[in-house]
Amino acid sequence: MLQLNNASYHFKESEPVLINVSFSISKGEYIAIIGKSGSGKSTLGKLIKGLVKPTSGSITYHQEKENIGFLFQNPDNQMVRTIVEDDLAFGLENAAVNPSLMEERMERYAKKLGIDHLRKRSINELSGGQKQRVALAGLLVLEPELIILDEATSMLDPEGRHEVLEQLESMHQESKTLVTITHDVEEMAKCNRIIGLANGEVIFDGSFTQLMHQEDVMQELGCVKPFR
Ligand code: ATP
Ligand code: MG
Repeated sequence: MLQLNNASYHFKESEPVLINVSFSISKGEYIAIIGKSGSGKSTLGKLIKGLVKPTSGSITYHQEKENIGFLFQNPDNQMVRTIVEDDLAFGLENAAVNPSLMEERMERYAKKLGIDHLRKRSINELSGGQKQRVALAGLLVLEPELIILDEATSMLDPEGRHEVLEQLESMHQESKTLVTITHDVEEMAKCNRIIGLANGEVIFDGSFTQLMHQEDVMQELGCVKPFR
């Protein structure tokens, strides 16, 4: 779907945040981007989405107009309207989707994410976990081909996290391409590929099982083996 070619990025006058990042993402992959806090994960997500441009190197999209959805780490950055269902409708209105299809999509994803009962509520009255679900629904109604999630489950309780992970897995089965930025080992274990960042550099690109056999790399990525 896309390819990063020696992509580097630095904010004005700062140390580089991403250094010579090269990898490609193919259709149908389920990738976790992991690494310690401040390692550059969110910046890499924004780069893939095209919200920031590489300072050097490049990113090539295989299709002229890739349909990419990006879920912000903080759901407040995602919301554009006051009422939940208006917010869900926003992207669909912009895409000029016809009203009956719009309603059908909103209903489907509101149900899938368990926010059906919140449709008439004001967003600023919702809990963090509820906002996260609304933000995710607002992205899924647009049915993007590539979905980038920046710590999508961080504000959810264990049950909510489990539900959202199941959603992601079923989307993966429907051959959507998923990139999830996460600290959650349970989530990593579901991915076919793990990309590990340390100080802006890719230091690991392989399977979860491979990662679990490299204790030194795990340590550099701030990743702890799950207890059994
Ligand atoms: P976390 O796990 O805490 O979300 P992260 O891996 O997503 O961390 P980024 O948000 O990509 O990290 O930040 C990478 C580096 O870039 C950090 O050192 C951060 O301080 C810096 N940074 C992020 N945003 C800006 C900005 N707007 N201006 C300057 N520096 C920034
Ligand atoms: Mg981040």
